[in-house]
Amino acid sequence: MILIGLTGGIGSGKSTVSGLLAEYGAVIIDADAITRELQAPGAPLLVTLADRFGDSIVDSSGALDRAALAAIAFSDPEALKDLNKIVHPAVAAEMDRRMNEVRNTDKVVVLDIPLLAENPRKGLCGVVVVDVPVEIAVERLVQLRGMPKSDAQARIAKQASRDDRLKIADQVIDNSGDLDSLKQQVKTVWEWAKQLPPATDDAGERANKD
Ligand code: ATP
Repeated sequence: MILIGLTGGIGSGKSTVSGLLAEYGAVIIDADAITRELQAPGAPLLVTLADRFGDSIVDSSGALDRAALAAIAFSDPEALKDLNKIVHPAVAAEMDRRMNEVRNTDKVVVLDIPLLAENPRKGLCGVVVVDVPVEIAVERLVQLRGMPKSDAQARIAKQASRDDRLKIADQVIDNSGDLDSLKQQVKTVWEWAKQLPPATDDAGERANKD
């Protein structure tokens, strides 16, 4: 496999880019999507979270009440530590499982990891950073996702800076333009990715384990 790391700030356009790469044939392993799947109603991880944090984190339909969990986790450092200890290894194991399924193929595999700059991975064949000015990310999150502006700004402030992400980039996608411009850049990135040498056997492991 050719293993690519894809990252970018919240609202930068990672999911849009990974969707376009999937159309070319890339296998996408999306950390956020896996986290949501593992916390689906009835999933073992949700049961473990309810055991630790109480039934108030599960709503009447059986789904995770993210706001209730966030309120607990962000008011108590021990709770946040426990939350990370429960969720991170489960997500990492599922990402590894999916990566191992395609490790010995010639596929381009994209690890879509919002916090890749903060949590590096070993042996990536290349890193793609989707970059937008903070104001554009905020505007898209407010207009297209209905996120309160202060929420969008607070989340961005908690992540690595644009500069920190750009430092790890082999390819930068500038998503400050329209979707056509984005598509052109993704095409170029796909052509670049396809010709990279394949990953080594330990590629994709977390460089700093929890
Ligand atoms: P998150 O970090 O929250 O997962 P993301 O980085 O995956 O976000 P996307 O969901 O791909 O970002 O994009 C954020 C929003 O901006 C979406 O509604 C998407 O459709 C829109 N968007 C992405 N790129 C563009 C663009 N070039 N022009 C207009 N809208 C865009």
